[in-house]
Amino acid sequence: MIGASWKTERADAAFQRLMAEKKKFQAIKGTRDLLPPETELWNRVEQMAREVFGTFGFGEIRPPIFEPTELFARAVGGETDIVAKEMYSFEDRPGELPDFKRESYDFVKAVAEATQLYESAQIPQAGLNKVLIPLLALKVEKYSSKYSGPLTAEDAAGIRKLVFDIISGLNHLELGPHLSLRPEATASVCRAYIEHGMHALPQPVKLWYTGPMFRRERPQKGRYRQFYQIGAEVLEMVPPNQDPAKNIGKDAAVDAEVIEMVMAFFARLGLEGVKLEINSIGDRDCRPKYVELLRVELLKVKEKLGPDSQRRIETNPLRVLDSKLESEQAIIAGLPKIADHLCANCAAQYAEVKRQLGMRGVAYAENWRLVRGLDYYMRTTFEITAQGLGSQNAVCGGGRYDGLVELLGGPPTKGIGFAIGEDRLILSLQEAGKGGAATGRDVFVAWMGEKAQAAAISAAQKLRAAGFRVELPPVEQKFGKALGQADKLGARFAVILGDDEIATEQWTVKTLADGSQAKMSEAEFLELLRKSL
Ligand code: ATP
Ligand code: MG
Repeated sequence: MIGASWKTERADAAFQRLMAEKKKFQAIKGTRDLLPPETELWNRVEQMAREVFGTFGFGEIRPPIFEPTELFARAVGGETDIVAKEMYSFEDRPGELPDFKRESYDFVKAVAEATQLYESAQIPQAGLNKVLIPLLALKVEKYSSKYSGPLTAEDAAGIRKLVFDIISGLNHLELGPHLSLRPEATASVCRAYIEHGMHALPQPVKLWYTGPMFRRERPQKGRYRQFYQIGAEVLEMVPPNQDPAKNIGKDAAVDAEVIEMVMAFFARLGLEGVKLEINSIGDRDCRPKYVELLRVELLKVKEKLGPDSQRRIETNPLRVLDSKLESEQAIIAGLPKIADHLCANCAAQYAEVKRQLGMRGVAYAENWRLVRGLDYYMRTTFEITAQGLGSQNAVCGGGRYDGLVELLGGPPTKGIGFAIGEDRLILSLQEAGKGGAATGRDVFVAWMGEKAQAAAISAAQKLRAAGFRVELPPVEQKFGKALGQADKLGARFAVILGDDEIATEQWTVKTLADGSQAKMSEAEFLELLRKSL
């Protein structure tokens, strides 16, 4: 035994040395690999979402992961942190274009090509190109005229400057549209609703999604640069000339049902310490007036606020209410509350949402300081927190966003939705011991001999077809070693197939948990497996 472990130690050290010499690739900061057995929990969560949301009539949508930057800028809002600082954006470049950014050496030819591409609209005709293309043509003309005559030292300096300008101009050409990795999916769902004319479908249209989102944030527990959301949206076109006051009851019921659905999903998963907070942040009518009042009140106490809040007085006063800064809490507590400044329609809807939640047995707390970080929300907003997450404890945020579809070029449309942070949801389940153990294998098929291999392959095929997880070693192993490996893999049963078992058609079956062993036919083993599930 000592000899064996010494040998593996030496092999291990050699392996470590070998690996140390190789270049190491690592997942980018803020991204991570999700691995088994944890991915089983991810699948279970997503499957539960599919099931629960399905019972509420939601269908799945899978929008692309990147979209025009402009879509997010318009939907989420240019002043928000997400758009201003956190998006992963890049300039796309149709494959067939020459890469001026690299091939700028023959710059006269490059400018001629660029001009032609610009004129035939193969590169964007807006933005910087509009200025650069004529400028480049001018500079090339100047360069060519100087180049033809005899050169003075002054000319040479002038030419150097011209060449520099032309190359740098070529490098700044926009070769394609500006795209961004999605920081959230509501904008994409609304874009898809418009693009596919979903207003013509029976309304409302109920869609859910799951997938990765990307934000350049400071990574920490529960906060990643690639993270996952599970979300849902309810979209409903507003018929022309509809009186908004007439539909307050209906909108409130839709809001309450969406919230009820998230809470049902969390309950089915056994998520612990779930707290729902709700608020109304008014609409286009009453919110601007409240925001103005807030601004006036904030300016009075500006000196007592931190730099972030001071800045937000100008950019987004509502976000000051979001502040977690200890020194600001007493000041914020004395600010005017939006509930006292809602217009009649907003107040009526908020009251009805609360009544509807009550009817559905959904417990909630009101939080007048709950504002959302995205511009598109109005009236109903909500956030759900769970336990075991430290300061990143929000697992779900949502709200109503009537008007967003219209802002993106669609018909007047109402919307309500939410996004669950799946990473945090999983973390909370794991902290509460709901992660589930490694699942291992149901059966390890140990075999020795050529005839036994054929029997083992056929046994593995039948067991797998019946849905059991089977490990079939690719080469024969002594039974002692095979059983050791079965144990390590967490197999529940080991089937032993040797000459005897083939001759008698009686398998030797070992139950790993208690070490007991018995002979039985294939049919009897299948029966045993099914019963032991
Ligand atoms: P937070 O205040 O925690 O930054 P948020 O208001 O930016 O959240 P939303 O844009 O409403 O979050 O997204 C909904 C949910 O997505 C959040 O409640 C959270 O669970 C999750 N989430 C948001 N950003 C991240 C991230 N960088 N990493 C992991 N989960 C995130
Ligand atoms: Mg955030």
